[in-house]
Amino acid sequence: MIKRFWILICLIILAACTTTDEPKQENEPTNEAQYINNVVESDFAPVGAVGFVQNNKTTFITWENLAFRAGLPLTDFIQPQNEIAIFLANGETIRTTNFSEAIVGILNENVSLGLADGTVFHNIAGVIADPPEISIIQAYYDMLYYLQSGERVMVIVLDGWGWEMHHYFADVQPFLAAQVARMAHTVFPPFTPVAMSSIFTGQTPNIHGVHDRATRTMSAPDIFEVASSLGYTSTRVQGGVVIVQTSERPVLVPNLQDRYATDQSVFDATMSRIDESDLLFIHFNSIDDAAHTYGPYASEVAASMALLDDLVQKLVEARGGIAIITADHGQHLLGEPNRMGDHLWVSHEDIFVPYIVIGGR
Ligand SMILES: [Zn+2]
Repeated sequence: MIKRFWILICLIILAACTTTDEPKQENEPTNEAQYINNVVESDFAPVGAVGFVQNNKTTFITWENLAFRAGLPLTDFIQPQNEIAIFLANGETIRTTNFSEAIVGILNENVSLGLADGTVFHNIAGVIADPPEISIIQAYYDMLYYLQSGERVMVIVLDGWGWEMHHYFADVQPFLAAQVARMAHTVFPPFTPVAMSSIFTGQTPNIHGVHDRATRTMSAPDIFEVASSLGYTSTRVQGGVVIVQTSERPVLVPNLQDRYATDQSVFDATMSRIDESDLLFIHFNSIDDAAHTYGPYASEVAASMALLDDLVQKLVEARGGIAIITADHGQHLLGEPNRMGDHLWVSHEDIFVPYIVIGGR
């Protein structure tokens, strides 16, 4: 009975994946052994990989040189206990407990996931087993909640500050390591404008419309607009370029040649406005910058984290009220010359970030 059900699900996936005019291939590999050979278990993955994440491990499926059609139980990749989060390529995230008979199907560059109730999700970017309770989108709702509770709110985004990196470098971050950090997941793809848009709008990318590193305008109202309509003032400070356009024009600190000096000048610009607004939003970039250049676990990243630990502590002490400290994404080691780290896909290193609230409930 169960087996028949699986076969049915496979058929549903295959029927949905197969285009009508495509000739049936006779020589497509269908046996499980061949399929398993094409599963990559590594922290590295070629571009286009679909990630299956469990705790601090990611199993990637790749479709490079593959022309097979197959359906395998999701439990061949991850063993969820309670829940899964399905990341779709359009940025939508679906959480479900209906995964016990889920099937993964592949056709060329499209990975699909079929649930036992017959629901099929096409073009998935990854699946997380027992995902963290919150995503970075929580920051939007916490900003509103605390503002409306009469609190002054400061949000500090440490670009590229992944959950793994935070723990790896705990010894150089005495202030941040002493705080209660919850694990949060970011959105897909884990790029800065995409994730920042989710923090700014409280929406996933399929709603706010930013899906890549180039788009600068969001198609949903941002927190500054919403806060303003409720009578709250905002200040936004960051270094370098506009990541995405918001209704509140950012105080842009010039990008200096030295990444640490740029963060220092973002700090100085923030300190001079520390009591200016009800909502103060700050973005620091040196962790991401150092991790791209040297890899996420390099000493240059440690230097950046040590600096930011000190700057964040000073900001929290100077400002008081509520401080929310989080990141847009983490990074994994890519290992290419001049591009040692990056953030691209659904992997534990890219997707999981710390989420800290100081002074809150
Ligand atoms: Zn980056």
